[in-house]
Amino acid sequence: MAIEKVGVVGAGQMGNGIAHVLALADYDVLMTDISEEAMSNALRLIDKNLDRQVMRGLISAEKKATALARISTTPVLTDLGQTDLIIEAATERETVKQAIFEDLLPHLKPTTILTSNTSSISITRLASRTDRPERFMGFHFMNPVPIMQLVELIRGIATDDATYNACVEVVERIGKTAASAEDFPAFIVNRILMPMINEAVYTLYEGVGSVKSIDESLKLGANHPMGPLELADFIGLDTCLAIMNVLHDGLADTKYRPCPLLVKYVEAGWLGRKTKRGFYDYRGEVPVPTR
Ligand code: NAD
Repeated sequence: MAIEKVGVVGAGQMGNGIAHVLALADYDVLMTDISEEAMSNALRLIDKNLDRQVMRGLISAEKKATALARISTTPVLTDLGQTDLIIEAATERETVKQAIFEDLLPHLKPTTILTSNTSSISITRLASRTDRPERFMGFHFMNPVPIMQLVELIRGIATDDATYNACVEVVERIGKTAASAEDFPAFIVNRILMPMINEAVYTLYEGVGSVKSIDESLKLGANHPMGPLELADFIGLDTCLAIMNVLHDGLADTKYRPCPLLVKYVEAGWLGRKTKRGFYDYRGEVPVPTR
């Protein structure tokens, strides 16, 4: 299964980073989004992030130019049908992802591998709604994609070895490291990380600490590079809540109950950095805690 052309669905935070690292590894990338604005923003951001790599001497200016030339965008999802591998990185909602795969199916090559960058949704369940559960798996990048070294590869119950090995090869070619995770709610990284973030929100909700004291405590007391609330804003509070709901529903344990304060921030549309307000307000020069 030679993979040369990759389709990326969703040009948000993750989609643009995925296109970036694939293009640098000489894959041809075709990216789509329902929002034209998201696509143009993604291209601008990739350009800027590649520039930063040139300035740091990590890549040459020629490499940047060839990588950028390898990325194209289309508003038409079904244009991705002729790619060898599709990485779906759209909004973390199961109905959204199911509809994307359903629309793609009639247009796919028989050999196209389908993958999802979902942080938490069952790969087996997503795969079961397609015509190729054996060629379907989880391809879970970490944020920010150009910087984070790990990719979790999640096999659904039916994923075959050829598909798994083809995805391992892609991870190696982009210079990252694959960790194999079984298909249980939130896989490995988020199974551990999200309850910690949720607990930080409870700590805030119960008045044990302020945004500043909670983040400082974990940075200085546990040597975390970012505080948990800062990290939640970075990931997106809607994504954090969606993952907690998947853990709560999938494992039926009250220890995964999403904090009501997290729900309230999401209801307010304060989703973190991407909406300029979350546990911090990013509208000014420096982030200011909102509690
Ligand atoms: P985001 O909100 O930044 O981007 C999602 C994009 O999907 C948006 O641009 C939206 O317009 C687009 N979209 C929605 N419906 C679509 C459709 N039907 N067709 C095409 N595009 C559509 O979200 P994100 O943070 O990039 O997350 C995307 C996926 O990556 C989610 O599954 C999320 O769980 C996963 N993920 C996120 C992180 C993170 O830290 N944010 C980390 C790992 C994985």
